[in-house]
Amino acid sequence: MKNKIIPYEILYEALETTRILVEGGPEEGELLVLKSFLKHISKVVERYLDNAENGIPVLGHHFAFPTEVFFAYDIVPIVFEGIPYILSALLPEGSESFYDLADSWGHPYHTCTSQKGVLGMTLNGMFQFDVITTPTAPCDNTFASYPVISEIHKKDVPFIIADMPFYHDERGYKYYGAELKKTILDVGEALNQEPDWDKFKKAIDYSNEALKYISEINELRRVAPCPIESMLCPLMTAVLAFIPGQPERALFFKDVLEIAKKRAKSGERAYPGKEKIRSIWPYMSIFFDIGFCEWLDREIGMSMLLDIFNYLFLEQVDTSQDVDEIINGVAKQSMEYPMVRQSQYHADTLIEDFVYLSKEYEADCAIFTAHIGCKQSVSLIQLLREALRDEVGIPMLTVDLDIGDARYTSIQTVKKEINNFVKTIL
Ligand code: SF4
Repeated sequence: MKNKIIPYEILYEALETTRILVEGGPEEGELLVLKSFLKHISKVVERYLDNAENGIPVLGHHFAFPTEVFFAYDIVPIVFEGIPYILSALLPEGSESFYDLADSWGHPYHTCTSQKGVLGMTLNGMFQFDVITTPTAPCDNTFASYPVISEIHKKDVPFIIADMPFYHDERGYKYYGAELKKTILDVGEALNQEPDWDKFKKAIDYSNEALKYISEINELRRVAPCPIESMLCPLMTAVLAFIPGQPERALFFKDVLEIAKKRAKSGERAYPGKEKIRSIWPYMSIFFDIGFCEWLDREIGMSMLLDIFNYLFLEQVDTSQDVDEIINGVAKQSMEYPMVRQSQYHADTLIEDFVYLSKEYEADCAIFTAHIGCKQSVSLIQLLREALRDEVGIPMLTVDLDIGDARYTSIQTVKKEINNFVKTIL
């Protein structure tokens, strides 16, 4: 059978190579979070590859959907936004050739690389989806790129859209619950499968368990020195995208919690040396250089406490309720999911969230990654800078870049800007 998810084969090889290097290289007791990440994510990617090879249909979807709901069916889930960025971290040239393919095909160069990567991979014949689905959120990039990816397929691929309302209130959550249910049933019809609600509940239970560990980890990140390495920020983003509704998601966060507890108890930092600066990243981490967070921790003593994907303003969903209630609970989670919550709605949500988190976590500064594709987030930089200055008393550095493409701003330039900021403003 033709491999319908070739980028996952590349990913699996890259993960395994990195795992061998990491397990054999650093001293025992180092890079513990990365080691756990590689172990768990590899298993899941391997499972997806086996399932795709055995003919299980491939569902491509936006990260704003909780994948768990689609585990009511036998599917191999591909979250579009995850794959270009994890490859940008693990491969020397990242996903650059795929961005270039999409650009040369005519897709605007300044769109978000999170979707542009999959667009290039699909143009290259590396993905063959059986169904594609997205909500109408959080951004124009999403909603302009998904139909294109579905059109590229030679045969008709069902393309299913859930309308996410603008207002994040009880009425909005209820409306989106109905949209989400319709999407789940439409996906079943497209795949010719009946929903198995027990499998769906089990997937949500695994993610509930992970959510419990994440809350505890985030409590421990308040401790000074921060007991968790900065690298958890990008790794957590990857785990949320790649391991939804799977036992490995809970196992990874359980490992991280144990590591954090042990260090917090003895007042240890992840690395020798003092924690000199506690930084908060109101948008995303940088994905295209896996060693960047190590540089922050080791070379300048800066802890990256949280980025936009690390603090989950979510409540667990009680799976003992009836299916409609569970879907409504998941719909609310989906609308309050990181980046959806802050990018779909008024700018004040992002500003309020990061004023609150900067105070709570006693941050010394903020660093904003002005991702070229994300016009709406970049437009509020000055407002956020003023709010952090006036309400928290901390400065914010802005770094212009593409978080998944090393060619816009090199990592050397990023480091130079941070160094200058640390030596002058801080
Ligand atoms: S980074 Fe911005 S443009 Fe890209 S998916 Fe997120 S909200 Fe959309």
